[in-house]
Amino acid sequence: MTKETVHPRFLLRENLNKLARELRLLGYDAAIYKQISFYNLCRIAARENRILLTRSLSESKQKTNNQIILIKADYVDQQLRQIRAILQFDPSIIFSRCSLCNKMLYEIDKKKIINFVPEYVLTHYSHFRICRFCGHIYWEGDHHQAILKRLKNLFEEGKL
Ligand SMILES: [Zn+2]
Repeated sequence: MTKETVHPRFLLRENLNKLARELRLLGYDAAIYKQISFYNLCRIAARENRILLTRSLSESKQKTNNQIILIKADYVDQQLRQIRAILQFDPSIIFSRCSLCNKMLYEIDKKKIINFVPEYVLTHYSHFRICRFCGHIYWEGDHHQAILKRLKNLFEEGKL
C-alpha cells in the first residue's frame, strides 16, 4: 500500500455552509446533513470518523465520544483560521472535490462537455472536471487561480 497523508474528515452544521465550501476547495471531505438532530449528527460523525464543526455552544459542550469543535467566528476566513492548525495546504488534493456537494471530481474529455460550458471557456481551457453527482463542470480558469492564492495566503500568513 502506498503511504498517504490522512486528512481529517468533517461534518458541519448547516449554518457553516460557507466553511464547508472552503474546506472542499482545499480538498477536504466536508459533509453537511440538512435538518438533522444533534444525536443523529453524532452517530454519523462517529460511524464515518468525522470531526463535528458547530456554532452552537451547547452542542459543543455535550458529552459525546465525538471530536467537536466550536466555531466561534462569524466570517468564513476567520472560521478557516480557527481550524487551520488541523489542516494542510496540500496541492495534491486541492480542487479534487465538488464545492457544492462534496463529491469527488472526475476528469472529463472536452468533447463531452461542448454543449455545457460557454464558448470562450472552450476556447481558453483544455482541462475539465465534472461532479457526477450534481453535474457541475469545473475548469482551471482565472477564478481558480484567485481561489488558490487566497487559500494559500490564509495558510501562510502569521498565526493570529
Ligand atoms: Zn457536485
